[in-house]
Amino acid sequence: MKMTVIHHTDELHGYLFNNRQKGYTIGFVPTMGALHSGHLALLEASSSSADLTVCSIFVNPTQFNDPGDFKKYPDVKEQDMQLLEKTSASVLFLPSVPEIYPSGTDSLEHYELGYLDSILEGQFRPGHFQGVCQVMSRLLGAVDPDMLFMGQKDYQQCMVIKRLLTLIGSPARLVTCPTVREPGGLAMSSRNLRLPAPDREKATLIYQALTQAKTRLKPGSLEPLKISTRELLERNGFRVDYVEIADAATLMPLDEWRGQQALVMLVAAFLGEVRLIDNMLLHN
Ligand code: AMP
Repeated sequence: MKMTVIHHTDELHGYLFNNRQKGYTIGFVPTMGALHSGHLALLEASSSSADLTVCSIFVNPTQFNDPGDFKKYPDVKEQDMQLLEKTSASVLFLPSVPEIYPSGTDSLEHYELGYLDSILEGQFRPGHFQGVCQVMSRLLGAVDPDMLFMGQKDYQQCMVIKRLLTLIGSPARLVTCPTVREPGGLAMSSRNLRLPAPDREKATLIYQALTQAKTRLKPGSLEPLKISTRELLERNGFRVDYVEIADAATLMPLDEWRGQQALVMLVAAFLGEVRLIDNMLLHN
C-alpha cells in the first residue's frame, strides 16, 4: 500500500475515522525526522501489532531549551520520505508549526509531572518535558492511537509520556522498544549526524562505560560505580551532565542497592558540541 502524506489535522481525522470504521487498529510512531534504524524498529513494531501505522515528523520548537540546538536539528525530509516509502507506514503526518500551535507558542499549558520534570534531563534541560508534553498531547489528539511506540533510548521521556497518557485520559497503550545501536554500541540518534568522524568512534565509550558498570554492579553503595563511570568518560574528553543510577520503575535516583530492585543507569554527556544520552538496565 502506498504511504499517504497528510499535512493537516482535519484531513488526518477524516482518514483515520474511515479506517477505524473498518475496524482497523492504529499504531503511532512520533519522530522529529532524520530517520535511522532506531525509528525503523519502532515502525516495524507498530506494523506487526497494529493494522495501520501513522508516523509523524515534527521538530517541536517548544522542547528545545537551547534555540541553537533547534536551529541545528537535521532536516532531511526528502530522504526521510524515501525511507518511509520502503516501510509499512500507512500515513506520514507532516504538520507545520502553526498547524500544531495555532495560537502560537507563547503561553502554553503546564503539565504536572512531579519530580520527573526536574531530575536528570529535566534538571539539565529545563522546560524540555513540558515541551514534549505540549506537542505529544496535540499529536495524540490528532491521531488518537490504540498503541504508541517509543524508544527506551529516551528512558525518562517514556516515563513522562506514561504519566501524560494518564493526565490527558488517553487510552493509548505505550509500547517501549529496545535501543537500536550502531555496530560499535553507540545508540542511534539523529544527533549522531553532527558528530565529526573521529568522535563517532569515541562516542562508543558511553556504551562501553554502561556495559562495564553492569558487570561491576554489586549490592551496597552505588556511589563508587557512578563516580568511576563519570571519571572514565571525563578522562576521555566527555563533558558529563550526569551519570545516575535509578530505580528502573520510578526513576528515583538511588545511592544504595540491596541486590533486588531493578536498576537503570542513565548518562548524558557532551562530546564536542553534541550532547548524547544513553541508558542501560543494570539489573532487572
Ligand atoms: P526522535 O526523532 O529523536 O524524537 O525520536 C523519535 C522516537 O524514536 C522516540 O520514541 C525515541 O525514543 C526513538 N528512538 C530514537 N533513537 C532510538 C534508538 N536508537 N533506538 C530505539 N528508539 C529510538
